[in-house]
Amino acid sequence: SYVGVHATGFRDLLLKPELLRAVVDCGFEHPSEVQQECIPQAILGMDVLCQAKSGMGKTAVFVLSTLQQLDIAAPTAAAASSTAPAAGTDAAAASTPLKAEDNVAPAATITPTPVQVVVLCHTRELAYQIRAEYQRFSKYMPGVRTAVVYGGVPVRQHMALFKPPAGSALSPEAYPHIVVGTPGRVLGLIRDGSLDLSHVRQFVLDECDRMLESLDMRKNVQDIFRATPHNKQTLMFSATLSKEIRPICKKFMQNPLEIYVDDESKLTLHGLQQHYLHVEEKAKTRQLNDLLDQLEFNQVCIFVNSVSRADQLNKLLNDCNFPSICIHGGMPQEERIARYKSFKDFSQRILVATDVFGRGIDVERVNIVINYDMPDAADAYLHRVGRAGRFGTLGLGITFVASDADKAILDQIQARFEVSMTPLPEHIDKATY
Ligand code: ADP
Ligand code: MG
Repeated sequence: SYVGVHATGFRDLLLKPELLRAVVDCGFEHPSEVQQECIPQAILGMDVLCQAKSGMGKTAVFVLSTLQQLDIAAPTAAAASSTAPAAGTDAAAASTPLKAEDNVAPAATITPTPVQVVVLCHTRELAYQIRAEYQRFSKYMPGVRTAVVYGGVPVRQHMALFKPPAGSALSPEAYPHIVVGTPGRVLGLIRDGSLDLSHVRQFVLDECDRMLESLDMRKNVQDIFRATPHNKQTLMFSATLSKEIRPICKKFMQNPLEIYVDDESKLTLHGLQQHYLHVEEKAKTRQLNDLLDQLEFNQVCIFVNSVSRADQLNKLLNDCNFPSICIHGGMPQEERIARYKSFKDFSQRILVATDVFGRGIDVERVNIVINYDMPDAADAYLHRVGRAGRFGTLGLGITFVASDADKAILDQIQARFEVSMTPLPEHIDKATY
């Protein structure tokens, strides 16, 4: 076999053996470019602001780097708070209902440890997915506890992770070392005194541009950031990092390693074939039906622009005997995650979704993305079609163009990313997607 001079294996990244084993179990053979560039710096504690195209393994960069640096034998919460009395003089600490000795696990197997890593992202499904990645990669690191927190779940359930009620059985996730969550819930838990981030060593923002562009979310992120110590590592990631958002990201960082893809044409996924189709609004459903009949998809994501359109289209598809499911922000949380899981584990193959599913979500067998509705911006397009063609695999993106406004966005997409989007041909050879 050919081994080039620059060929790098995960071995060369100097990860702990227990992480290397997990990487092998995941079937990863070589680190991707972004992993090669970032992991060596990140495990030295450097701040990283990183743009790299969709599906290239940004998650593993921060999951491996934070696990590598995790101190499982870190001081216990009880010990930590007794050695740092000065910092904890605020109302939250004073109102803490439990005394340190109540924190002892009944089974005596869990040593209360402060949270060391906090990862924030913009949707609940993504938080859930990232937490699952932590579980996958920490497989050979017994004792590492991770938890995921987001809205739509009774807050008491999350409070109990950090301050288990005395005498109750301890959840295996209690006293997590690593917390993944959405900003609203994380902040809520900080404010009610449940979550103490004063021992955090790594602060991670996934989809950082999305999180800092919306001012509400940015405010929450800032407030969470302020609850962490000054001295820590900050890591941020996205496939899209406009020149405008970069300085805002850097306000959270000190001398970061900066990796940008300034030539936006390089964000194009080369395995992804991209077509558009002019179709009147009222003909969209018919057209979609035909496509689903003709195309050979492993899994397909169909994007629409509103909750009501997702529900309607999903119902229509089911009436036409296409067993689809839908995910959007207008359904109960448990449903959302249950549906996400059934799509991720391949029990379902057709998903109708809003933009809640448009970024970050990684479902291996999705080979077709259909924009039933044109996304509202070129960035959103890039993220949506990036759900197919993960990690350099083949895929197909088809976008319906129904109005002049749609056409304008199509032009922006083509100009920005230099993708050669062509009209949908009569027939597409299955071997090409
Ligand atoms: P990104 O966040 O950059 O969009 P993800 O972290 O979601 O990408 O990774 C995309 C997919 O690629 C995931 O299914 C992940 O398991 C896989 N992957 C990541 N790194 C590697 C690697 N080095 N070798 C093979 N597959 C990988
Ligand atoms: Mg990602």
